[in-house]
Amino acid sequence: MIFDRIFKNKPRPAPTTEALQVGSRTAPLLMVPHPRARRYLLRLRPDGTIRVTIPRHGSLSAARDFAARNVGWLEQQFQQLAARPQTPARWNLETEIYFRGERVRLGTEADGSISFGTERLPVSAAAGDLRPAIEKHLRHLAAQELPPRVMELAAAHGVDVARVSVRNQKSRWGSCSRRGTISLNWRLIQSPGFVRDYIILHELAHRRQMNHSEKFWQEVARLCPDYLAAERWLKQHSSLLK
Ligand SMILES: [Zn+2]
Repeated sequence: MIFDRIFKNKPRPAPTTEALQVGSRTAPLLMVPHPRARRYLLRLRPDGTIRVTIPRHGSLSAARDFAARNVGWLEQQFQQLAARPQTPARWNLETEIYFRGERVRLGTEADGSISFGTERLPVSAAAGDLRPAIEKHLRHLAAQELPPRVMELAAAHGVDVARVSVRNQKSRWGSCSRRGTISLNWRLIQSPGFVRDYIILHELAHRRQMNHSEKFWQEVARLCPDYLAAERWLKQHSSLLK
């Protein structure tokens, strides 16, 4: 999501969508010209769309051939995607959710309250869908924990922050305003610490570069050397935002 916006200021040729047969399934094949790509790149997105990146002097027909030559690899990717744990829309006992980067199972205590990880909630398991109560609790934890962590990292790197707000964004993990307000998604409480820190450092880097230029990414790499691993985790767990 973040990488997709890096080049937003430059006009780009439009992507083309076709279909590709992979084993027994027909999948959408999205072919995206990318002026800065050096070679053809293939990837399976979490929504089941196959994406081929076309380099500067590439062509649609070569992109099509490239995808077709790699159907074996794509088939493996589809299998991995199907095996990836999904969290259902309704949460009840036995549902597994992400909490601090780990999958934890919702359980019940002797007094009937709900537990997961080290957390205990005075909510009855008989209450039906447990999701609203648990999300409220997670959001409360995030509101307690995220702002002090921002201030800690901001102080460590000498960055000014005017205000931190913890919000319920639908499609982004964080943002930074020109006035220095950093907004973070409460769902970061569901991610591992290194991912949470990456998002915070990403927003702090925007205090120095209000864009996604090369300079910005250099700053991110300086503040957070393992940011690519964090980006990968976020990509693999993008369903947490839905
Ligand atoms: Zn950004």
